[in-house]
Amino acid sequence: MVKDLQLRITLQEEKQADILIKKSAAQLGVSIRDITGIKVLRKSIDARKKLIVFNYKVTVYIKEPVPETQAYHFDYKDVSKAKPIHIIGFGPAGMYAALRCIELGFKPIVLERGKNVQDRRHDLKAINQDHYVNEDSNYCFGEGGAGTYSDGKLYTRSLKRGDVRRIFENLVFHGAPEQILVDAHPHIGTNKLPKVVQNIRETILKYGGEIHFETRVVDFIIKNNTIQAIQLQNGEEMPVERVILATGHSARDIFYLLHKKNIALEAKSFAIGVRVEHPQHIIDSIQYHCSGKRDALLPAAAYSLVEQVNDRGVYSFCMCPGGFIVPAATANGEVVVNGMSPSKRNNVFANSGIVVEINAIKDLFKYEHFGSLKGLEYQKDLEKLAFTSGGRCQSAPAQRLTDFVEGKLSLSLNPSSYQPGLNAAPLHSLLPKAIGSRLRQGFKAFGSKMKGYYTDEANVVGVESRTSSPVTIPRTEHLSHPQITNLFPCGEGGGYAGGIVSAAMDGERCAEAAIKGL
Ligand SMILES: Cc1cc2nc3c(=O)[nH]c(=O)nc-3n(C[C@H](O)[C@H](O)[C@H](O)COP(=O)(O)OP(=O)(O)OC[C@H]3O[C@@H](n4cnc5c(N)ncnc54)[C@H](O)[C@@H]3O)c2cc1C
Repeated sequence: MVKDLQLRITLQEEKQADILIKKSAAQLGVSIRDITGIKVLRKSIDARKKLIVFNYKVTVYIKEPVPETQAYHFDYKDVSKAKPIHIIGFGPAGMYAALRCIELGFKPIVLERGKNVQDRRHDLKAINQDHYVNEDSNYCFGEGGAGTYSDGKLYTRSLKRGDVRRIFENLVFHGAPEQILVDAHPHIGTNKLPKVVQNIRETILKYGGEIHFETRVVDFIIKNNTIQAIQLQNGEEMPVERVILATGHSARDIFYLLHKKNIALEAKSFAIGVRVEHPQHIIDSIQYHCSGKRDALLPAAAYSLVEQVNDRGVYSFCMCPGGFIVPAATANGEVVVNGMSPSKRNNVFANSGIVVEINAIKDLFKYEHFGSLKGLEYQKDLEKLAFTSGGRCQSAPAQRLTDFVEGKLSLSLNPSSYQPGLNAAPLHSLLPKAIGSRLRQGFKAFGSKMKGYYTDEANVVGVESRTSSPVTIPRTEHLSHPQITNLFPCGEGGGYAGGIVSAAMDGERCAEAAIKGL
């Protein structure tokens, strides 16, 4: 007999050996000896009440052999001599577009401005230590895109669970831990992501795809509403038939290029704010109702907060328990913060973006003359402001949380994980009122929802500005651009994804659309 069960296991019970077998036997009214095996399908933690419970979904095998776990299989074909599809950008969208092309029997030719994961590390070190941003290789640009040196959280609001599972299984096939198939809030961690990305590269090369690193696309040669060739930064022109544009939300030069060529773009609503950093033990004690250290079986606690303030959402974004704040600028002269964490989430800080919705129609009056690029210009101005107030280097402007809310300059700051360093600055008065004042009200409300969250032991750090693309590149129901028939805007830069998994799924969809009729 095979039975699917939901089990509730308390934290104390979780410490017992064979607890899943014992609980399953009791629930099914069978002998422990008759249970031949248990497969965990899903695991989540419910810490809303003082009694912390692990919720399991399991398949129990009773007097039945347990089937062997099947190796994941993807039908990759030799595409070395197949028709090419050009893919610009090797982030999650570009990687999964390339893998899907190979499954469908087409040869992906990937052009990526940044370096491979190994060489990219030197440029990350230069940002953190020398305050120098290589504009082609940084936390956003390079092999694996913005997803490589990230938290690797794999949450998505996508309802297409089948597609999500396919991406997860493919990540496992390429070396991600199997646990991501089970955890309710899966994540990979920045220490493990580069290897997964490298394995994806190796699959693409093994089956005959091409990947050209340090190859920035700078222009499109267009005739009869079709891209005939793409021009690279070394002047070379590469003839193309179909182009998947997966350059991400930070490729401003691509947005400017499309705008200059009168290729339609649209301003999109997005969000801007700050990153708040607490000592992890404070978040643990709030979420796990404990004082001091969390139980060793519990992961670093996370949170998700949202509040409506004056008609706009203020919400936590990309929360990184046990993580680091990182400098995510893509050019010198700007400061942008984001977060990442290792797989064990064992750093002593918890950070999260706290951002305010910027409505593209209602909030950008002063920027209207920039047309579809108004949000991008607003975002740029705030990043320049953060650069100036941070000390004209990659140090970031910061304030104690309570000082930010009370409108006082901080005389001293708390320790922080942000390597380039913090500079005390009056963020409360520097940020536009539409953002600053909503954030201040939002933080107060969060303090009421999570007692202990509103504390002078936390810093706010500016600015969290690359939450999603401020621009949409329109596309038809066939996923091609309405004017340029062989251009397929893809992933987060096009405005069609918000995170690693949704970008990967959009990459697959664009590959399927791009090969049609070839
Ligand atoms: C620090 C950080 C942490 C994050 N943490 C998470 C997380 O935990 N979970 C999550 O889901 N999301 C996270 N994100 C967001 C996530 O990384 C993005 O949503 C995702 O990477 C978007 O994928 P994409 O392929 O559309 O674009 P990108 O990942 O931005 O990739 C675009 C690629 O295109 C390349 N490119 C740009 N312009 C050109 C050009 N002209 N020529 C050639 N190549 C070009 C870039 O170098 C880049 O590699 C994080 C982002 C950052 C920066």
